[in-house]
Amino acid sequence: MSDTSKSLPAYRLGIDLGGTKMYALVIDRKGKVVGSSRRATKSELGYRKVLGRLAETAREAVFEAGIKLKELRSVGVGVPGPVDAAKGRVLLAPNLGWGAKPVAKDLGALLGKRVVLGNDANFGGLGEATHGAARGTASSVGAFVGTGLGGSVVLAGRVLNGAHGFGGELGHIRAPFGTAKCPCGRVGCLETIASKTGIARIIAAGVKAGKRSRLKLSDDGRLRSGDLLRAWQAGCPLTIDALTQCARALAWGLATAANLIDPEVFILGGGVMEALGDELLPMVRGSLGEFSVQFTRRKADLRRARLGDEAVATGAAVASVPQET
Ligand SMILES: [Zn+2]
Repeated sequence: MSDTSKSLPAYRLGIDLGGTKMYALVIDRKGKVVGSSRRATKSELGYRKVLGRLAETAREAVFEAGIKLKELRSVGVGVPGPVDAAKGRVLLAPNLGWGAKPVAKDLGALLGKRVVLGNDANFGGLGEATHGAARGTASSVGAFVGTGLGGSVVLAGRVLNGAHGFGGELGHIRAPFGTAKCPCGRVGCLETIASKTGIARIIAAGVKAGKRSRLKLSDDGRLRSGDLLRAWQAGCPLTIDALTQCARALAWGLATAANLIDPEVFILGGGVMEALGDELLPMVRGSLGEFSVQFTRRKADLRRARLGDEAVATGAAVASVPQET
């Protein structure tokens, strides 16, 4: 093992490409961040310009780390959408306005490096499993509650992308109690409840039905996690109802994953969890036994994500060096 790790490069570079910003970081073998850079994505500039910005951000992170690009074996990039990892193609990234794009080939040509692509939530889970909340565990399932609901499955240090890029799509598991339409076109996906969009929808529906809320939604229906926490602390019944539904939907998703995979650990992350994890975690735990018999016998190992907005880039950096087993 020690011989193998010595043959691996000392540094690795990962990039989190999001709809609004991109973040590149260089980590050492232990996961310590030694250089980073970020800038706005500006997806409105188009595919080629975004690729150019990715390459600049990567170079800056490498410069800050005090190393040379040639010292890196390859570069990992997490994107907001499903990918064909084997072919290095993004299949669809609506937040970037992209359809199918050969990102690995095109960015690889700009950087002169091999590029490894992955879905952002999958890489977030890999980052947490390798250097964060689930470090040292053999298997983990991640749930990331942000604007949408992302998921990840990591087994023996490898993230499950799936044969068609849809591995770990927790957000599109359907719940029997779900009634709202999902952007994917189906009805009742967990993302319609356990996400900021879902919580905002539940609160807006309550207000429309004449209930009072302490939470102010902006005109476009957007919601900030910090405002949610304040409304919860003030005892707003609509907020409490929406978060109770969110926790129950998460429990349904985790119980479904547990019945299929039985992971050692569940990681709960994303903006909503960062703001309200202390409130939500016990609620999720309380509902797990309702949905899977194994949690009537034992307590689930639920852990809050630790890497915050560095998780995706960290996982991308980890994935850039294939595990040598
Ligand atoms: Zn869906």
